[in-house]
Amino acid sequence: MRAVQRRVVAYLGQAGECSRAELGEALGLPKGTVAGVVAGLVELGIVVERPAAPGPRAAGRPARVVALAGAGAAVGVVTVASGRVRVSVATLRGEVLGAAEGVLEPTAGQATAVEVFAGLIESAAARAGAGLVTGLVAVVVGVGSPVPPPGGRGSGGAGRRWEFVPVWLDGALAAAVRARTGVEALVENDANLAALGEWRFGAGRGRSDVVLLKLGERAVGAGLILGGRLIRGRGGFAGELAHVQVRADGPVCSCGGRGCLLHAISTELLELAQPAYDERLTFASVLRLAAAGDIGLQRLLADVGRLAGRPLADLCTLLDPEIVVVDGSVGAAGAHIVHGVAETIERHASPAMAAAVVAGELAERADVFGAAALLRHEWSRSEV
Ligand SMILES: [Zn+2]
Repeated sequence: MRAVQRRVVAYLGQAGECSRAELGEALGLPKGTVAGVVAGLVELGIVVERPAAPGPRAAGRPARVVALAGAGAAVGVVTVASGRVRVSVATLRGEVLGAAEGVLEPTAGQATAVEVFAGLIESAAARAGAGLVTGLVAVVVGVGSPVPPPGGRGSGGAGRRWEFVPVWLDGALAAAVRARTGVEALVENDANLAALGEWRFGAGRGRSDVVLLKLGERAVGAGLILGGRLIRGRGGFAGELAHVQVRADGPVCSCGGRGCLLHAISTELLELAQPAYDERLTFASVLRLAAAGDIGLQRLLADVGRLAGRPLADLCTLLDPEIVVVDGSVGAAGAHIVHGVAETIERHASPAMAAAVVAGELAERADVFGAAALLRHEWSRSEV
């Protein structure tokens, strides 16, 4: 799509249906340009023009409106965590049309990763319905590590590569996905995507300062929205809660630090719980058992919240967010994590700070909503 087409799609994603005149006024485009852009998008199957819904007809009410074609404008959302690849094909409003799952070895090269992503996008699109593939307008890849800026190698300075960044992830990934799929591609940290999703569509709606805590299998991260902007930092490292030091004499981490929060949480959660169970515990099974009423694991999850809450308390004192959202992908057991985080922030943050701690509202789909929010944001500021 051309830049002006992206702006129109982003506007329609937010506004829903509107007349050509409203579109031109909102985006500052002349009538002739709007007509050409709409015609082009209709031809691509991304936009439809249809009669306005029946209702009281005020003078000058348009007979026809422009809107996104329901399943026509779709985005492929790829998320990679612990070697599992999950793909959703969704609308720009976050509605999932089709999904597929696969695996990717952390040592796989970039060409292999891109092939896996493209194959799963095709499978998900096929499940979403015939004709959708032509309506795929973008791909967003969410990853559980810092995203190097375009051209960057994921290095923390002096050319040293971050060991915890997968081999296939560098500043060239977006261009490689674009070349393979033929549509625009963006790569974003998964906690950032969840933060964008909850901010635009979920628990952080209407706020301008939102911190999101994301927990997964051997993964912990934060997404920071400050002053209505996603904060990524110089090299994409902002919000990497996993590598905040919580034990000065703790084990050495692949980031080069010692006693990182990631290790403390992994130890607290699985190694402390395992001796009491015959079955091999995973993060997912701990969440499932806790949600089903296992009191020991509920207490452990509250402790995980307390551990993550300690650096979050300092972060709250320093940044004064309105709300801290615990990502909803942890399901019903998340209530125990919320409890631990809230208690620790209340105990350790400055009493002058008053951030509410809440569970996310978008369950495991915050990343899909976040991808829609990211695209709308990127496209709405495209140069014409
Ligand atoms: Zn570390």
